[in-house]
Amino acid sequence: MAARKAEKKRVPAQKARSKAALAVTARPKPKAPVRKPKTSADARAVFTKLRAHHHDAHCELDHQNPFQLVIATVLSAQSTDVMVNRITPELFRAYPTPAALAKAEQSEVEAKLNQIGMFRQKARNIIGLSKRLVEHHGGNVPRSLTELVELPGVGRKTANVVLGVAFGTPEGVVVDTHVQRISQRLGFTRETEPVEIEQDLMKLFPREDWDMLSHVLIFHGRRICTARSPACAACPVNELCPSAFRAENVGRKPPRVRT
Ligand code: SF4
Repeated sequence: MAARKAEKKRVPAQKARSKAALAVTARPKPKAPVRKPKTSADARAVFTKLRAHHHDAHCELDHQNPFQLVIATVLSAQSTDVMVNRITPELFRAYPTPAALAKAEQSEVEAKLNQIGMFRQKARNIIGLSKRLVEHHGGNVPRSLTELVELPGVGRKTANVVLGVAFGTPEGVVVDTHVQRISQRLGFTRETEPVEIEQDLMKLFPREDWDMLSHVLIFHGRRICTARSPACAACPVNELCPSAFRAENVGRKPPRVRT
């Protein structure tokens, strides 16, 4: 009898152990922020402080006109701004206008891009994009989201970079990896997908802040609130941040699970 009772007790313990084992092998979910999302007033107070701290925040892709900006932004996918800035001067010298790049040989453009990832696909995209600018937009970069996302290699994020930086008329908030991570750490969102994070940010902040919001968060993410080692002690909003001094696992991409 006593043995049977002991056996019954063991079964739930075994179940718990196997659940724990499953939890170890399953892909871990990113952790949600430790407090409720900020109200709009709270979020704007945080942003005001961050903006004052990063008063020089701006788009760090070197460009001199909307055409160069859209090309540089397309090239920056899966690459760094520093790397893109290294290759674009030579690219823009060789192909200064959409008409010039539209007529370029794919192999010659590839040769100028081969230091960055996916350079063949990017070469194809920027030639195609230039052709479309020439054929459909008189050689100019269009000013609407709908027209921009029809260009090869241009998605919503790139389109909003161009609309915000070149024309001052963003139709959304640019959510890159820094904006995603820091919005989660600051409690601006509990979402993990860029499209949903963008919706939360658009509700929290007025349209006139959308462009600068992403520049400031990107500056903050590159200089202080880095993915691996956020410098909370040096952060100007550490008294307002729900993740301060415990942010290492908040807003980070889950580790890859080997199978
Ligand atoms: S306090 Fe830490 S986690 Fe919060 S925004 Fe600043 S650096 Fe990032």
